[in-house]
Amino acid sequence: MERCLFCCPICGGPLQMEKTRLFCENGHSFDRARQGYTHLLPPNRMHSKEPGDTKEMVNSRRAFLESGAYGCFAEKLCELVWEFLQGIPSPFLLDAGCGEGYYTGKMEAYLRERGLSPRVAGFDISKSAVRAAAGKYKGCQFAVASAFAVPAADGSADCLTNVFAPIVPEECKRVVKPGGVMILAVPGPRHLYGLKEILYDAPYENEYRETEYPGFVFVRRDTVEDTLVLDDREQIQNLFAMTPYYWKTPESGSRRLMETQHLQTEIRFDFLIYQRK
Ligand SMILES: [Zn+2]
Repeated sequence: MERCLFCCPICGGPLQMEKTRLFCENGHSFDRARQGYTHLLPPNRMHSKEPGDTKEMVNSRRAFLESGAYGCFAEKLCELVWEFLQGIPSPFLLDAGCGEGYYTGKMEAYLRERGLSPRVAGFDISKSAVRAAAGKYKGCQFAVASAFAVPAADGSADCLTNVFAPIVPEECKRVVKPGGVMILAVPGPRHLYGLKEILYDAPYENEYRETEYPGFVFVRRDTVEDTLVLDDREQIQNLFAMTPYYWKTPESGSRRLMETQHLQTEIRFDFLIYQRK
């Protein structure tokens, strides 16, 4: 049986994997869904209202990403994890806030095609997203879990990736092993500026982030930028649905975008690389 990459959200101990459940030696047991993922939220979070992206948002996100529109970013992320993991035969790569698994799956395939036996796991707070991820990327393990209680053992991850997801610095410090790396993808200042020009009367640039994280040394920032052109109303809406603007755009802006058939915009991801001390 495949080895479980997650740890028990109750006692922190290692989990054994069976077809229908994960369990630890202290008798805590977690059912696996048909698609293979597991809920690993701490007990006080188990019954909260379903948080994170909805099924519709997950479908939009998948349709947009699978079109290859952000392929340049996926490629860069794969090159970066390879740069840092290539000397490790079976590295543990943990994708925090993995969404529907697009980047997780790309990284796993990239490392495997280059001769590694990667152990790749992703977690997200959205059940819909994790279900979609687990249904498609069979080479990775997925769990519904919170960034505030990452279901991975102390010092276990050779690499932690985070693409635009909320980050809890203490948890990152805890799970990345000494010498391991953390790669954060954040939006560049003018990422999707052309989209914002349609949505807002007075668009603003994203903040340029230069954050220090305790326990980590900043290695470098790599930038990938391009121009995205969309001539398809549905893809424009799919893109909109995966942005934070989806929730906070005034109706006039949403309506303008609804009528938009041609979108040209700058896109830019900044990849911030940190090494665990
Ligand atoms: Zn346990």
